[in-house]
Amino acid sequence: MKERLSVEDIREMLLCVCRAIVENEAYLTQIDNRSGDGDHGIGMRRGFSHLEALLREKRYSTINALFYQSGLTLLKTMGGASGVLFGTLFTGGLKEMPEVESVDIAQFAGLMDRALCAIMRRGRTKPGEKTMVDALLPASRALLDSANRGSDFRAALEAAAAAAGKGCEATAAMVARKGRARQYGEKSVGCRDAGAASISLIFSAMSRWANARAGCRGTQDTLKADGGEKL
Ligand code: ADP
Ligand code: MG
Repeated sequence: MKERLSVEDIREMLLCVCRAIVENEAYLTQIDNRSGDGDHGIGMRRGFSHLEALLREKRYSTINALFYQSGLTLLKTMGGASGVLFGTLFTGGLKEMPEVESVDIAQFAGLMDRALCAIMRRGRTKPGEKTMVDALLPASRALLDSANRGSDFRAALEAAAAAAGKGCEATAAMVARKGRARQYGEKSVGCRDAGAASISLIFSAMSRWANARAGCRGTQDTLKADGGEKL
């Protein structure tokens, strides 16, 4: 039988994501200071700490409701362009998915891929413009490839995290064409994009959760308390 993640699994995975973002506020701000307006870490910390509170307090019966409410929380609490874009990471893929209580790797990959397309539409951006898309696109491709190969979640998320990390690194060589960073133009070359760094942190946290889950169910409590190493 195909491996599936339940609503509870995804809730736990997102709690790890929230910890990782909150703990890396300073790192994200430092990057945005060099090529943006320095507020990315603050917005992300605000959004993901609200999301963490929501996930601790509420339980949802479908993946659809969990993703929708998560995206809405980010949209409402982060503000600005990135609030809409990171909110869309959760809501953008939902339209074409029936109500489900669990997802297999192909459904999860489909969700992320449709979210990527929605983000590109909303942000009017394409790959190579030094944005979160440059990390999300390779991560989404890695998930789709893994789904086609029949990989499990652990391997798929590990591949997605590695791809997002590489994508983020590659933004250092790009000229910023979108958002506040655009005003830096050629001066933005040499430093990574903050939104891409956030995407990389998100998939790394998902992968850490999946590794711990595959290795030892007993580590879930440790994982909840510790979102992972700081960068
Ligand atoms: P703001 O640009 O409003 O200050 P943040 O600093 O929180 O917002 O987020 C900046 C990040 O948002 C950028 O690093 C980039 O990855 C992403 N971003 C900005 N504009 C766009 C866009 N049009 N399309 C996709 N991503 C974008
Ligand atoms: Mg900013």
